[in-house]
Amino acid sequence: MRPLVATIDLAAVVHNYQLAKHCAPGRQAFAVVKANAYGHGVREVVSALHGEADGFAVASLEEAAEVRAMHGEARILLLEGCFAADELPMAAHLGLDLVLQGPEQVEALLAAELARPLNVWLKLDSGMHRLGLESAAVRALFPRLRGAAQVAELNLLSHFACADEREHSLNEVQLECFLDLLDLDFDQRSLANSAALLMIPASHMDWVRPGIMLYGATPFAEHSAAELGLKPAMSLDAQLIAVREVARGESVGYGAGWVAERPSRIGTVSCGYADGYPRHAPAGTPVWIGGRRQPLAGRVCMDMLMVDLNDLPGAAVGDAVELWGVNLPVDEVARAAGTVGYELLTKVTARVPRRYRT
Ligand SMILES: *Cc1c(COP(=O)(O)O)cnc(C)c1O
Repeated sequence: MRPLVATIDLAAVVHNYQLAKHCAPGRQAFAVVKANAYGHGVREVVSALHGEADGFAVASLEEAAEVRAMHGEARILLLEGCFAADELPMAAHLGLDLVLQGPEQVEALLAAELARPLNVWLKLDSGMHRLGLESAAVRALFPRLRGAAQVAELNLLSHFACADEREHSLNEVQLECFLDLLDLDFDQRSLANSAALLMIPASHMDWVRPGIMLYGATPFAEHSAAELGLKPAMSLDAQLIAVREVARGESVGYGAGWVAERPSRIGTVSCGYADGYPRHAPAGTPVWIGGRRQPLAGRVCMDMLMVDLNDLPGAAVGDAVELWGVNLPVDEVARAAGTVGYELLTKVTARVPRRYRT
């Protein structure tokens, strides 16, 4: 078997969910499990949170159906609503909590004949300008939706653009915009993602929506996951499959762009961009071998990458390599590669076997 596996620690996911609940006492939480639970495996994550989570949030009807098949009771929030009117009967059949993010979705719902009414989350565009209705439109629609046969609970939802930057002025603007609608008698309100849950208590409302923190990565540039009390859920582990000596002046890898500045030991690792490791990770990106960080050397290949082992004279074929995980936070690798933990976690490809620990 190829020595590359993503080990998922489900106890860490449960710990992180409990931490989210602890940070927002008395509030309910939708565990965000879109995109195959950020790459961790939606079935296993939902099972691990069964009996724990107040609800789940997903990005599509297909994802919602997968969660519903495992969980007959849970509230399941469809974060972007239905993409077409013909999805509404299925949303009703599955008993989803439905976001209405634009006027087209509102009119489609009000025109639909549904087997049962749905819990509706009217989405306010409080300043991110991606999805949602303007304040005035929310006000205008409120009475129509309140009286509609298709609507059970009528709830309000919005989303922060910059909650990962605590001091960003848009946070206050968005919170104010949301609070400005407090006079409307919504049943439930929801505003906070992981970053807001952790740093903006005034945004907690009735339901929080933690995503990235459940998987033990940080939403912040300046606070590590460990500092926040989060436990990493995924470890991506490979092995050294070759080790060689390279003379000073010799190059390593495609394009011959990395050149040894001294006689070097180069290790070849069984992980590449077809596994989801970022191809654009530059030389120097940390890789965990022999209990320390070793620098990536040369371009990441499809199935392999190379590492400078000069500081690790004892390294040998078969040695364990952690691309990210318990020892090397995914956020640190992401920063070196100019991206975020979210992208690395969700991009681990299907050919990487997942193993689960509980
Ligand atoms: C993905 C998503 C979340 C979760 O965000 P994190 O930053 O991962 O906590 C919350 N709300 C909405 C609307 C989302 O799309």
